[in-house]
Amino acid sequence: MTPIRIGIVGVGKIACDQHVPSIRANPAFRLVGTASRNAAIEGVPNFPDIDSLLEGVDLDAVALCVPPGPRHDMALRALVAGKHVLLEKPPGATLSELDDLVAAAGREKVSLFATWHSRHAAGVAAAKAWLATRMVRRMQVDWKEDVRRWHPGQAWIWEPGGFGVFDPGINALSIVSEILPKPIHLTSATLLFPGNRAQPIAADLAFADADGDDRVMATFDWRQTGPQTWTITASTDDGDLVLENGGAKLTIGDDLVVDGADVEYAGIYRRFAALVGQGESDVDLRPLRHVADAFMIGRHVRTDDFDD
Ligand code: NAP
Repeated sequence: MTPIRIGIVGVGKIACDQHVPSIRANPAFRLVGTASRNAAIEGVPNFPDIDSLLEGVDLDAVALCVPPGPRHDMALRALVAGKHVLLEKPPGATLSELDDLVAAAGREKVSLFATWHSRHAAGVAAAKAWLATRMVRRMQVDWKEDVRRWHPGQAWIWEPGGFGVFDPGINALSIVSEILPKPIHLTSATLLFPGNRAQPIAADLAFADADGDDRVMATFDWRQTGPQTWTITASTDDGDLVLENGGAKLTIGDDLVVDGADVEYAGIYRRFAALVGQGESDVDLRPLRHVADAFMIGRHVRTDDFDD
């Protein structure tokens, strides 16, 4: 098979930590260039912006690893140029900006992939399979991490469109919406905003499903120092299912089912290659919709100023 020639736009933390090694480890892809204002990847040409990348090198696809704010314009340029597009999460800064991207992908007959990396964590598929035949009485989501440790110097994350604590929290919602057998909708939310920041540092969410209220409760908090928590617990009549470490570790009752390595981005690139091969797109906006709902109906509460 001829490798898919791919360029990366936005050479920041996630591009260097995950995209470059995952692309280079997958023979279905060949990294042919990058677009970055401040960085470069050894061994491939770097261009200052996406337009010069699209003009300067022959490629089939681009992976957009920039923050959500500037992503829509870049995605549209790439799609209109006939390139397959992989979007980092969250897929956009608004819900409706995804509409013309989906339309453009259809028009140009290229693949658009809105990735949710946490769905590829080692325990998620088995959790989904186990829950598929069970009634989830209650689900508790605790996503608590230290923003200073995971997002040092990322000013964009605190600005409008940067999502604040929903930047990691949307990963939890991507797993929840993947593994729950029934759809849920947000019924209440409280968002804590530092006095000096435009995005929330913590949030509490409650979701209902068709069978009742408070089916899923979620706490996202960026102020957790010490041990970090990325845990989802589902209570069923057959016992508890617990996903830990962001979905990498799965326990059902007393049985440790999976305690896997970091396979998320390998999974993303396998899926992208399959989508391109099949001429399909995959754009699931449910996690983004839950976050939009939280900003819409959430009670906004001011809390202490936060400095990096
Ligand atoms: P980052 O370290 O800040 O890197 C983003 C890069 O995008 C920057 O280095 C910058 O590269 C480029 N960029 C282009 N336009 C920009 C703009 N207007 N503002 C800021 N940067 C701009 O961020 P990241 O952590 O890699 O996150 C990027 C995306 O990946 C986010 O959507 C995030 O949610 C997602 N993600 C991050 C992680 C993680 O652990 N960090 C994990 C999974 C997903 P140049 O200066 O080189 O142009």
